[in-house]
Amino acid sequence: AEEPGDPLLDGLNPEQREAVEYRGPALLIVAGAGSGKTRVLTHRIASLIRSREAWPSQILAITFTNKAAAEMRERVAHLLGQVAEGMWISTFHSACVRILRREAEHFGFTRSFTIYDSADSRALIKRLIKEAEADMYGFTVSQVQAKISKLKNELTDAESYARSVNFHDPQEVKFVEVFGAYTRALREANAFDFDDLISQTVFLFRAFPQVAERYQRRFRHILVDEYQDTNHAQYALIRELTKPPVSNELDGVAAFAGGGASLTVVGDSDQSIYAFRGADIRNIVEFERDFPGASVVLLEQNYRSTQNILSAANAVISNNFDRKDKKLWTAVGDGEKIVGFTGYSGHDEAQFVADEIAKLHDAGMPYNEIAVFYRTNSQTRALEEIFIRSALPYRVLGGTKFYERAEIKDAMAYLTAVANPFDTLSLRRILNTPRRGIGPATETQLASYAEREQVSYREAMRRAGSLGLGPKVTGAILQLAGVLDEAAALVEPAAAVGGAGAADGAADAADGADAGATAEPAGSAGAPVSEVLQLLMEKSGYVQALRASRDPQDEARAENVEELVAVTKEFNRNNPDGTLLDFLTEVSLVAAVDDLDDSSGTVSLMTLHTAKGLEYDAVFLTGVEEDLLPHRMSASEPGGPAEERRLFYVGITRARKRLYISLAMTRAQFGETAVAMPSRYLQEIPAELVDWIQSPGMATSRGGTEPRALNAARGGGYGGGAGGRGWRSGSSGSGSGSGSGGSRWGSTPDYGAAAARPKTEWANRVTGQVRDNGDLELSPGDRIRHVDFGDGRVNQITGEGAKRVAHVAFDTVGPKKLLIKIAPIEKL
Ligand code: ATP
Ligand code: MG
Repeated sequence: AEEPGDPLLDGLNPEQREAVEYRGPALLIVAGAGSGKTRVLTHRIASLIRSREAWPSQILAITFTNKAAAEMRERVAHLLGQVAEGMWISTFHSACVRILRREAEHFGFTRSFTIYDSADSRALIKRLIKEAEADMYGFTVSQVQAKISKLKNELTDAESYARSVNFHDPQEVKFVEVFGAYTRALREANAFDFDDLISQTVFLFRAFPQVAERYQRRFRHILVDEYQDTNHAQYALIRELTKPPVSNELDGVAAFAGGGASLTVVGDSDQSIYAFRGADIRNIVEFERDFPGASVVLLEQNYRSTQNILSAANAVISNNFDRKDKKLWTAVGDGEKIVGFTGYSGHDEAQFVADEIAKLHDAGMPYNEIAVFYRTNSQTRALEEIFIRSALPYRVLGGTKFYERAEIKDAMAYLTAVANPFDTLSLRRILNTPRRGIGPATETQLASYAEREQVSYREAMRRAGSLGLGPKVTGAILQLAGVLDEAAALVEPAAAVGGAGAADGAADAADGADAGATAEPAGSAGAPVSEVLQLLMEKSGYVQALRASRDPQDEARAENVEELVAVTKEFNRNNPDGTLLDFLTEVSLVAAVDDLDDSSGTVSLMTLHTAKGLEYDAVFLTGVEEDLLPHRMSASEPGGPAEERRLFYVGITRARKRLYISLAMTRAQFGETAVAMPSRYLQEIPAELVDWIQSPGMATSRGGTEPRALNAARGGGYGGGAGGRGWRSGSSGSGSGSGSGGSRWGSTPDYGAAAARPKTEWANRVTGQVRDNGDLELSPGDRIRHVDFGDGRVNQITGEGAKRVAHVAFDTVGPKKLLIKIAPIEKL
């Protein structure tokens, strides 16, 4: 029916067209990487709108990141030749925040609720563990947090969990207590944690069918990208949204435009990499059973990569059991061979990466078409050092952790305290920050007053005068309360400031969820967020305290606060009607990949997890070693190595033209050097696809060593009787490949001797971004925060210069020694 020259269908193959033109209840598109799944979703949305089968407001599309959502919106506009207003294209989390902001009042929250990020909920859990004396039962904060998260993703709340628990197990009983206290604390603080956003929306829909019905009627077409990575709660949400509206049944109306919404999901079970966060591959495998009448479309042509890259990907993933074999092909041609490199050290490897990037760039490839992937954030240190030295423009995605810095969290806590007067966590954070002489005892006194009098924590602060505290402390509290009220008045000039519910004054029911209505709850025309933030930072004395400090780090902190002010200004520019709540929501939902700016001419560095869905002309997969890939933590878990293999597959399939695979023989962690082994997955790549280059250093110092050493190091492992050719021989095409491979490996250093050394330092692996703390001033008594170990107290400093070591007693994990220069720590 479509004319030739139709931009919606021209650029598609027959299977893709079928998916775009499908009209029915449920469609599953399963296909390998780069086969155009995301493209099909985009064209499908445009097609529905252009044919007037759907209003933009009847479409809900779910993407994995905010950036992917923005891209999809832009592409749809491009295809239609105009912006389609009112579509919901967003992540699961953003969509649920929108729903909850409208509906939270149905179950006792206000629309100005706070969203707790992982660090916030960690802090809360930590306090509750202490209060419940649960640490004596051997709980760590991380364990409790992970378990609560897992339960919420399975839609198990504290109450239902309590019913299922074995009451003879004291540890379980204690956990139930903490989980319950955590749930109550969130509720009292008018806050949701990240997992709540999804699960509470599901609970809301189940408890209030008339609320669910609003959205069931509104969204007639629901489309989900990366469906293989949905967890149970997200799956349940989709099920709720695609149910036929209840009143249809009551009215005896058989079908409302065919009953429930039409659902399209696309995914690739080979790219499921979030099982550790509760993603359930069964959602895709069992789709046809869950949605009877579903059609399935398979896409097999890959439009992204060269044949060599695809062949490597196909070969690697075929080693996973329990999968439907699907073969991707491409019309692009073989392309260049994959380049392999083994460095002596992480630095050596990084130098190789930097040199190759320089070559690619000289040959005309823009920097922003080049990406470097790694398994853990700690691997960035060597890369960054070399990149800086080589003056290569780069940027680390998800590595800056801007919003996790103490001073940024402080500033955000000020804003949050203004928006949500019930948010005790935020108020407690800022109560004595900067130092005002308000101690923990006063903090607790305020809390119990609030509880006794049934008022918000902020109201308790306003009434500090009646608490019988000393005049200085009382004055300090009143002063802070005054600043917060002043800021609140800026935010909502109309609402009366003074009552506990000041920020709730403007809450409206916003029944506008029906088709056509797209406006968010109207925010009152308050002052721009930047003004509110500036007022808070100035009048609270926060910035002043940083400026007055003699700690050189505080200067940097003040600059970071300035940077946040700049962020709010930009927010105000981009969202002229944006409220403080909008800003807080946006910040709580930023994902690692969201600060990716393609237009900037920089090389992108990111973890393999972050790389999902993206594509680059050239990709460097670094650290392809045992203990990194597969990661040490997952190697022994059931399904772990298979999931890590999928991660490797995701990495390989991001590359369009050039793929580089590199590893190092030794890797530095905590200033100690550990022996590294080639990843088991390397032998799964057919030898003839890879050109191995060796480190120049190796050739001169190690000439002639046969790769048998490699085999020996692996304890005669998976080389499997292939003699000296070692781990490459297991793959297909080993005949000629291993011949040349053998000579390339001729200079492989002797792993054997080194392998005999213990590898205890691996146990100390860090995951956070590692930076150079060379001149961080630390002395006994200082409190620090470590990316993985949490907070702790410095007991002793030994060593000098780059070898200074901090002996730290961590609050949860106990004593540790850290090489200050590189440890991912921050002084508190
Ligand atoms: P992933 O599994 O990695 O998410 P995907 O299946 O979503 O991949 P897309 O990102 O949609 O794949 O497409 C991969 C690349 O191929 C994109 O650059 C896309 O524009 C291009 N592409 C897809 N289909 C076609 C087509 N029919 N003609 C030309 N290019 C196409
Ligand atoms: Mg995709």
